[in-house]
Amino acid sequence: MSLKARIAALIEAQGPMSVAQFMTIALLDPKEGYYPNREAIGAAGDFITAPEVSQMFGEMIGLWLVQAWADQGCPKNPRLVELGPGRGTLMADILRTAAVAPEFLADLDVVMIEASPAMQAQQADKLRGLGTDLSWQAQFDDHLGDRPLFLVANEFFDALPVRQYVKTERGWCERMVTALDGELQFALAPVPAPKASVPAGREAAPDGGVFETSPASTALAEEIARIIATKGGAGLILDYGYGEAAGFSETLQAVSGHRFAEALYDPGHDDISAHVDFASLAAAGKRGGASVFGPTTQGMFLANIGITERAEQLMKANPESSRDLLTAIERLIGNDQMGQLFKVLAFAPPSITDMAGFAP
Ligand code: SAH
Repeated sequence: MSLKARIAALIEAQGPMSVAQFMTIALLDPKEGYYPNREAIGAAGDFITAPEVSQMFGEMIGLWLVQAWADQGCPKNPRLVELGPGRGTLMADILRTAAVAPEFLADLDVVMIEASPAMQAQQADKLRGLGTDLSWQAQFDDHLGDRPLFLVANEFFDALPVRQYVKTERGWCERMVTALDGELQFALAPVPAPKASVPAGREAAPDGGVFETSPASTALAEEIARIIATKGGAGLILDYGYGEAAGFSETLQAVSGHRFAEALYDPGHDDISAHVDFASLAAAGKRGGASVFGPTTQGMFLANIGITERAEQLMKANPESSRDLLTAIERLIGNDQMGQLFKVLAFAPPSITDMAGFAP
């Protein structure tokens, strides 16, 4: 039975499911979910991420992390956590670059948070032989709160489930997934959502306006911020999304073979994600007690921490790859490419008042 047929059968047995539940099953079902079973990332997959565009991305992030560690007096026993490490490329580039600070690497504990066993295996392959103490967990948990926490998440939060509410004459009704003759479709819950689900200040929406929340994302961001605020460390979240308060349109999207697809059409086969609401993540970071920097754009962030200078250095050393390096830089920071749509947010302990890459 296809994953779509299984979801339809589940809905027939139990009633409509939230968009969040649909996303979770479509992305992570162990047998037929997207991440455990598809070649998601890369030219042959469905999308390309910044670390796959160029090693310069991971190098700059590696330097940023080492700088944040040094700025806090080089705390002992740091832990480096990556959320959703994909093919392991970003972590490989970070660890290679962090060799500039052998004391950082010396007693570093590296933890990869990865739900998909297939992706875990790919990451282990990539990172074998790097000589660092590595382990894997399917989920972030509070056991990771006992050391200074240096954390990076690139294109992770967009994969976390969102709930959607639609403004109607009756109030805000949750958008659900239902099934008809084996096909999946959206339908509104007949009863409006309790007031607490929809934050104050959102009443101005037109009829049909959609409001999205990602409780899984904000809870995780708050937990990370709380650890960084109390134990030290720094967190860097990069993703596509909006920096200001969100509008009233939905952002759930499906992508297959580098093209957009219908979100409900082929669960397990297509990637599904939603724009990250950086204003909510920033607010969660403050609730957790951290100093919050940004959101700024990926273009500004990478330019501020010197990616152009790094490209010039590489071009001098390898003039024959100048054209490729220029293309990569344009892709990462160009306003019509990843530079503007992608945002960056950082957390640090409350004593830290400025942070590389962010305007003071
Ligand atoms: N950071 C990588 C990959 C981004 S794709 C890069 O930039 O290339 C998203 C990654 O997060 C994949 O590795 C996917 O398997 C993992 N993932 C998605 N949802 C997850 C969840 N809820 N918990 C843990 N890992 C998840």
